[in-house]
Amino acid sequence: MRYQELSYWLSSVDEPLTPRPGLAGDTDADVVIVGAGYTGLWTAYYLAEADPALRIVVLEKEIAGYGASGRNGGWCSALFPTSLPALARRHGRDRALAMQRAMQETVREVGRVVAAEGIDCDWRAGGTVVLARTDAQLSRARAAVAEAREHGLADEDLVLLDAAEAADRCHAEGVRGGTYTPHCAAVHPAKLVRGLARAVERRGVRIVERTPVTALRPGAAVTPAGVVRAPVVVRATEGFTPALPGQRRAVAPVYSLMVATEPLPASTWAQIGLGERETFSDYRHVIIYGQRTADGRLAFGGRGAPYHFGSRVRPGYDREPRVFAALRRVLGEIFPVLGPEVPVSHTWGGPLGVARDWAASVGLDRSTGLAWAGGYVGDGVGTSNLAGRTLADLIRGADSELTALPWVNHRSPRWEPEPLRWLAVNAGLKVMFSADEAEARTGRPSRRAAAFSRLLGH
Ligand SMILES: Cc1cc2nc3c(=O)[nH]c(=O)nc-3n(C[C@H](O)[C@H](O)[C@H](O)COP(=O)(O)OP(=O)(O)OC[C@H]3O[C@@H](n4cnc5c(N)ncnc54)[C@H](O)[C@@H]3O)c2cc1C
Repeated sequence: MRYQELSYWLSSVDEPLTPRPGLAGDTDADVVIVGAGYTGLWTAYYLAEADPALRIVVLEKEIAGYGASGRNGGWCSALFPTSLPALARRHGRDRALAMQRAMQETVREVGRVVAAEGIDCDWRAGGTVVLARTDAQLSRARAAVAEAREHGLADEDLVLLDAAEAADRCHAEGVRGGTYTPHCAAVHPAKLVRGLARAVERRGVRIVERTPVTALRPGAAVTPAGVVRAPVVVRATEGFTPALPGQRRAVAPVYSLMVATEPLPASTWAQIGLGERETFSDYRHVIIYGQRTADGRLAFGGRGAPYHFGSRVRPGYDREPRVFAALRRVLGEIFPVLGPEVPVSHTWGGPLGVARDWAASVGLDRSTGLAWAGGYVGDGVGTSNLAGRTLADLIRGADSELTALPWVNHRSPRWEPEPLRWLAVNAGLKVMFSADEAEARTGRPSRRAAAFSRLLGH
């Protein structure tokens, strides 16, 4: 497989992506981790840091960063898939706020490790600007700030921008206002995951690549090349989880797709802004996200690719020409300075993991030694670091502020069997798309989309 072709990011790392040696026979370990994305690697990192004597093996079916960690939008944000009001309803206001503060701290923690380990990943903590370009979007921006205040966040966390302030950060067409949060860094995601893999190896962790795990059971991860026996087995497979035996309905793999432009000239950047490399989005329903890369491109993505029957994940699903064309069109609408033919050089995508109740979770079943983390939807760059630190505490039996957070040991319900799952996920996407179209026409907020969000418990 040509791993460089999986994303613009993997094509632009300064290394050849040669797989590490695979497993050669049975072996024993203290902890075996399945999946060498951020989740698996952060878990290995903090475990090895806390106890250098631990024998830790990471099993990866392809190479470190093959999954979403090598392909994402590069927002290392404090976003958490369950909204603050929904967390407050389920766990109370104080625990919801503690979760949000832990996420904010996580952005700083990733920045700290990146610096301490010398991971050269174009890290820039420039925050996020979310634009409002219609009346309906403006009302959602206002509501987001009001909601944040109500739940204990301040102007330093999320501030409403008027049209001039928003345009000052990001000069998008028709901008009416927006919000700004400082709690986000733009990052080159593949350089982060690859650098992290090297950092864990320096701490004595063994990463085994091109070694698919075919079964997980208490005390063992089974592969065609041998069994790794360990009292603790960590599942860190996110969007690929449904392919594991017994896990088909654990998360739904939903695809997010991206495009990257050619490097843009300084004159274009002078018109667009994003001078702090702020990550950017807008208040439409179907999520879009972008960043100004360190080499002067716009990397821009969105949801909207179909969910595939039976939670199937296939390389071909990463490429959906209709979605790439839509992303290009939307990018051109937001930044007309890019001209009628937005100069796109790369297109790619990948699966992320959505739990049935939209709630990310991390946990360890002490009776079996089976641990897991995931269900981050599109917010795993930061959240996986919090998961890794939390798993390290859980596995070492250390009670901490992290192990008391509300997402710890949360069990999401399973998704419905097919064809219900397929119908529900794709119907949801349709509602959000048509809501955006209607809002663009009328400027009025869509009641159907709001009702659908409430149904999901957002
Ligand atoms: C296009 C896109 C854009 C995104 N943008 C953002 C963003 O800007 N910000 C953000 O916070 N989040 C974003 N996300 C989500 C984020 O990338 C993920 O939540 C995060 O990378 C998940 O990390 P992970 O380690 O849990 O999973 P992954 O990175 O998917 O890693 C799982 C690993 O497990 C391996 N694996 C799976 N099954 C097996 C098996 N049976 N045996 C051995 N190995 C196995 C896979 O090969 C893979 O390497 C985006 C996702 C996508 C796809």
